[in-house]
Amino acid sequence: MTSDRFIPAHTRTSYQRTSYMSHDFEGICNFEIHGGDYTEGIKVFNKEYIASRKQLFKDMGWGEWCEENDLGYQNYLKVLESGEWKLGYYENEFNYRVPAQIKCCDKWLSLGSFTNTCDKCGADYNGSGQLLASRSFWGEETGEHWSECL
Ligand SMILES: [Zn+2]
Repeated sequence: MTSDRFIPAHTRTSYQRTSYMSHDFEGICNFEIHGGDYTEGIKVFNKEYIASRKQLFKDMGWGEWCEENDLGYQNYLKVLESGEWKLGYYENEFNYRVPAQIKCCDKWLSLGSFTNTCDKCGADYNGSGQLLASRSFWGEETGEHWSECL
């Protein structure tokens, strides 16, 4: 069931895009860049590779990137200068699950948990989008008298 206020759980396909430079140097891995196809020419690849090294330094907290401090980049230059390399590109396909969503108070609420609460009105939904009884009625629903809940 799909309506304008409910989207059932579904599987989505995504792709990880990887550009690489392969070579025959021993002890050096292929150089990879994730995120796109940068193999149209060495200029493009080079630019993106440096950008990815800078990002890596930032992510790892290694400080400001510079050529001299980056062993991986030194290896890359060695391979680049040899001229014995090839650019290539591949995609990895992977699936991931998107939980059902329900519209409550004009906002989409993701139903990824057992109980999902709208932060505006406090309504509880289960994973399939069914409205659960208000918490104050939980005792009644199970047939217990209010005094037994104390
Ligand atoms: Zn709501």
